[in-house]
Amino acid sequence: MYSNYQNHLIRIIDEIKETGLYKNERVIVSPQGAEIELNTGQKVLNFCANNYLGLSNNESLIEAVKASLDDHGYGMSSVRFICGTTDLHKELERKIAEFFGTEDTLLYAACFDANGGVFEPLLGEEDAIISDSLNHASIIDGVRLCKAQRFRYENADVADLEKQLQLAHSNRFRLIVTDGVFSMDGNVAPLDRIVELAEKYDAMVMVDESHSAGVVGKTGRGVTELFNIKGRIEIITGTLGKAFGGAIGGFTTGRKEIIEILRQRSRPYLFSNSIPPMVAAAGIRIINMMTETNVLQDKLHFNANYFITCMKKLGFDIKPTKSAICAVMLYEARLSQDFASRLLKEGVYVVGFYFPVVPKGQARIRVQLSAAHEREHLDKAVNAFEKIGRELGVIK
Ligand SMILES: *Cc1c(COP(=O)(O)O)cnc(C)c1O
Repeated sequence: MYSNYQNHLIRIIDEIKETGLYKNERVIVSPQGAEIELNTGQKVLNFCANNYLGLSNNESLIEAVKASLDDHGYGMSSVRFICGTTDLHKELERKIAEFFGTEDTLLYAACFDANGGVFEPLLGEEDAIISDSLNHASIIDGVRLCKAQRFRYENADVADLEKQLQLAHSNRFRLIVTDGVFSMDGNVAPLDRIVELAEKYDAMVMVDESHSAGVVGKTGRGVTELFNIKGRIEIITGTLGKAFGGAIGGFTTGRKEIIEILRQRSRPYLFSNSIPPMVAAAGIRIINMMTETNVLQDKLHFNANYFITCMKKLGFDIKPTKSAICAVMLYEARLSQDFASRLLKEGVYVVGFYFPVVPKGQARIRVQLSAAHEREHLDKAVNAFEKIGRELGVIK
């Protein structure tokens, strides 16, 4: 029975390899950080983690986790509403709402689940979801699970958004949904204009702050801080898996009635296990740290600025960015692969992205800056980019 299907899969796998799209995992044997060790014994500088605030191996978080293991144990063996909620879960939900200036929060196992479970309970077939064309896969999947009518606008294009809002004028309710920061370019959604249009066309707004929370805005409160629109967004989703410690966990935060309905009806919340108390304990510690001081944001903003300025001076083509993502444009897929593998030999770990992850002819290397990077790390990366850039004729 299996052999026909096996051959079918082998053909698909070969095809993936032939088109150069086969993904391999690189194995790290050290904690996540600015400098990591691979199972090959090579030590490299890491410029491709979502470890924006450098908290993945932070001592204070590890202390909080160890303490919670002692007083709350390891796992919950339950979904939240049966017996999977501790005081730590409740406290973290409160803290996340305080952090974003929202009314209430619901934790999920991941932001993928938060986005997967947010649309279907809130909107029906008479409603409209108006979604940015470059939104994260989890938003796209979440929208698919919902019966609402779908409208799509070109990435960050407010003129197109307005057209779509006009098309959706006869629907009962309208929800505009966008990533805060788009992960491939590092551009920020024009939330000020989006909120204006939402008010003009009587729509609600949802923003996914996964790449922007902890990163964007002077104190890291994300795009609602950057555009000074706190309290004017109905729904924010985000992850604990990027800037906020990088372990696992996601959340939806926003208007209290919306969160209340999600607590009753959101399927990934109702039918999937509770995050372990230690993750909640670490989350609480992170929010406390970010309330006390901005040193990590300041360092991240400095590092991003420094790196991008150096790269532009060398003549690299950098996508306009307001985040900690820096897309170094190389345009050709093979060149991006070659460039990245040569950088690894120089001890700098970055990843080249090409079609279908980005549009054809738009291949690039994505560099992600972190507060964990020191000046010497940044200089080493810039020097390696300069060396390989000249070797491959990308810069003069
Ligand atoms: C990373 C990411 C997610 C998924 O977050 P997880 O918590 O890892 O599931 C969702 N949305 C966006 C925009 C992301 O960048």
